Amino acid sequence: MRIGHGYDAHRFGAGDFVTLGGVRIPHPQGLEAHSDGDVLIHAVCDAMLGAAALGDIGRHFPDNDAQYAGIDSRILLRRVRDTLAEHGWRLVNLDSTIVAQAPRIGPHIGAMRENLAPDTGVAIDCINIKATTTERMGFTGRGEGIAAHAVVLLAGL
Ligand SMILES: [Zn+2]
Repeated sequence: MRIGHGYDAHRFGAGDFVTLGGVRIPHPQGLEAHSDGDVLIHAVCDAMLGAAALGDIGRHFPDNDAQYAGIDSRILLRRVRDTLAEHGWRLVNLDSTIVAQAPRIGPHIGAMRENLAPDTGVAIDCINIKATTTERMGFTGRGEGIAAHAVVLLAGL
């Protein structure tokens, strides 16, 4: 078995929604990114790649590569799942935390779990997503952006 950790953050910019866990959430700002800015999925990808000692998301999907401009991060996550399978690994479970002062995440967690379970190849009860504010402290608390942490366990196929 292998454990892995991932962290990602994106700053707010122009837009009227954010995408988190593949769920489009209305918000007065968007997240600046080369892809769709899905910090949760990016943290999950990094945790899975990290557990398999396969580097990070930037190595597999370079942000200077035009084919990844604006890409749906769920596609990247499915590719990470398939890459891990090629190396003999499968996800056992995922725990994660989204750090955001706004928007409110709680009402969307169920839909995010329903996205991440098939994309990572596990049952929904193996996917946990939490959300916290930082009580207005730090860059997330000041509403400058959103961050996410993820921890995964992998097992050999
Ligand atoms: Zn990212």
